This record gives sequence, structure tokens and C-alpha cells, in this order.
Amino acid sequence: MHSKAQDGFALGGKTFGYDNHRISKGHAEHRINEDEAVVVREIYTRFADGEGLRSIALALNARGIPAPRAQQGRPNGWSASTIRAVLERPLYRGIYSYGKMRKAFHHELGTARAHREKGMIPAPQEDLTQSTEWADRLRIIPADLAERVDARRHDKHRRYQASLAKGGRVPERAHGKYLLSGGLLVCPQCGAHFEARTAPWKGHRNVYICSTRRRKPGCCSNTLALPIAQTDDDVLSIVEGEVLGTAFIEELLALVDKGDTDQTARITADRDRLRDEVNHLVASLAAGVPAETLAPAIRERDTAIARLEVDLRKPRQVRPDLDQLRAALDQRAADWKDQLRAEPAVARLLLRRLVGPMTLWMESETGARWEAETTTELLNGLVQLVASPEGFEPSLPA
Ligand SMILES: [Zn+2]
Repeated sequence: MHSKAQDGFALGGKTFGYDNHRISKGHAEHRINEDEAVVVREIYTRFADGEGLRSIALALNARGIPAPRAQQGRPNGWSASTIRAVLERPLYRGIYSYGKMRKAFHHELGTARAHREKGMIPAPQEDLTQSTEWADRLRIIPADLAERVDARRHDKHRRYQASLAKGGRVPERAHGKYLLSGGLLVCPQCGAHFEARTAPWKGHRNVYICSTRRRKPGCCSNTLALPIAQTDDDVLSIVEGEVLGTAFIEELLALVDKGDTDQTARITADRDRLRDEVNHLVASLAAGVPAETLAPAIRERDTAIARLEVDLRKPRQVRPDLDQLRAALDQRAADWKDQLRAEPAVARLLLRRLVGPMTLWMESETGARWEAETTTELLNGLVQLVASPEGFEPSLPA
């Protein structure tokens, strides 16, 4: 990798402002994309002239200027953080840096990504190499403009530090702190998550709002603002009344019965179909089709039939007694109902396990109405719990 980087070749994905120009197999180099470079220069100029990150994002979004590709599932558009990333990228100043990220495996990735086989993590600072060798080819921002931007950034940072020292507030991170923030409410217009705002925001406070409205100004027109306390209460009432209610439990129990019958029926049907085919092939044999063309097909089917027969003879997955399962479900539901409002952590976990992301779709007099799928996670855990009491514990707090 390093040798390619040392030659000034493009590594990895596309960088806004450049095209990857293929020069030979496996080698590409950055060439300035003039349309995108104009946008980069505008961002630097606006910032140097005193405009804020959010305001710059809004202006670009309003004109429909394409932004660097958003993460999967996120709405596309400029945000304060994409503007900041543009201001911080050394490449625009002609500085080529490499070794910023390195490959990592399993646990090196940290707890959130440890289940993945490999990924990228920041490399230690001393492994970072910067070069200005290709500055003429790569530079989009002239040195004097870069200096004006740096001066303003340093000034902002100094003032921020000074305000913290005087007891100013560190900006709050809403993500994940509230019952329904961090992914449970999905904006039907842009697909982004709702976030909790407790600081005043456009005349509201203590509301859930579409995060795109703040992060990517001008990219989503959903103005729904849901009062946090009331919305939490509404959702918990639904979980208590419906998700942990008798009707839902009976629906789940009906699934257990059906799932088992379905599987036996499917295996039997497969076996019967294969038997028919074998009979058909044998008949062709009798009618004079040469054995060497048919024998492999018959053998193949016989093997498959034998496999299915074995499956059919296997004891079906231990089938829990439905009454016992009903009692276990009722007991768990009652326990969880007790904890739902007393233990915020339990409420969050239950919502995540039992109810899929809610797609908000309208405001009504009583709050907001939404659609969500309930999952059978509760059932899967409990079937196994009842069937093999020592084998499996659903990973929900008991
Ligand atoms: Zn939205």
C-alpha cells in the first residue's frame, strides 16, 4: 500500500473534488474535478468571510449542489460536519497524506464492531506521512485562502475553549439518551432518525424532531415536533397494552403451532415430488432410454430422498407445551410491564427487541400516530426457554 501512496497514487474510494483517473491496472491518480472544485472553493471562501458551517450547508442544499456521498441509508445533502470535513482535508491544499487509517481485525475494532472480521481504524500519529510533492496537481485551495480559513478556525477554537473555561456548556449530544432517540423513530420523508432536542430549537424544546432538519438544513421539510415526555408515555402505553397484552401473546402462540406443521408439510411435499420424479425416470428407462443417461439423475434423487427421510424421522424441535409457554409469556410480560416505566434501560431494550423502528407519519390530536412492526423476538427467546430451561436465556433483562 505504502509504495502506491508514495508514488502519489489514489488509494481507495472517491474524494470529493477529484476523480480517480485510472492510469494502469490497479493504479489510479487523483485528477481535479473542476465542478466539485468550484464547490470546495466556495466553501472555503464563505467560511473565510465569516459564514457558519450550518449556513454554508443550507446555501448549498438550497441550490441542490450534490454533496459527498452520504453513509448508506442517510439522506444525501450537506451538513455542518461535511462542511467541516471539507475545511479540514489537507488534500485541497495540495498536501497528500497517507497512513491515516490502517487495517484492523476483530477486537482491535472496538466493542461496537468486534463482530466484524476486519475494518479500518485510525493509525498512530507517527505512522502518518504527508507529502507536498504533488501539490501542483492536487491543490484546489490557494495558500492565502487556506490561511484565512485557518485563522478563523483557530479563533473560533480559542473562543470555545475560553467559554468552557468560564463554565460554558459543552454542546449536548442527544443521541441515544432518550427512549426514542437513536433510531427508533424514523422520518417518513427522508428516512433519517428523529433526535431529542432539549435545548430550544425553532420555538420548541424537549421534542423529538427529524435529525436531518438540524444536520442537513434544507434537506427535509418534515416539521413534526413530538413532545418527548408525552411521546414516550404514548409509546410505553402501547407496549403495555398491545405488545405485552393478551391478544399479542395469543398471536405469537398461534405462530408456534403453525411453524412446526409447516416444516413437516414442506419436507413431506419435497420427498413426494422427488419420488414422482424417480418413478418418471424409471418409466423412461423401461421405455428404452439408455441407463447411463438416466442413472446419475436417479441416484441424485435417491440420495436427496434419503436425506429428507432422515429429517422426517428426527424428533421435531422439542415442541413446548402451549399452556406452559403461555404461562411463561404471561409471566415475562407481567415482569416487563412492572419494569417498563421504572427502568429506562429495560424500556429501551424491550422497544428495540419487540418493536421495529417506527415510521412516523402524522400528527394527531392525541400526539402522533405511527406504524411499526412488532417482532417475534420475544417468542423465539421464550420458546427456547420453555423447551430447554437450561439452554437459552433471551438476552433481555429478566
Ligand atoms: Zn426527515
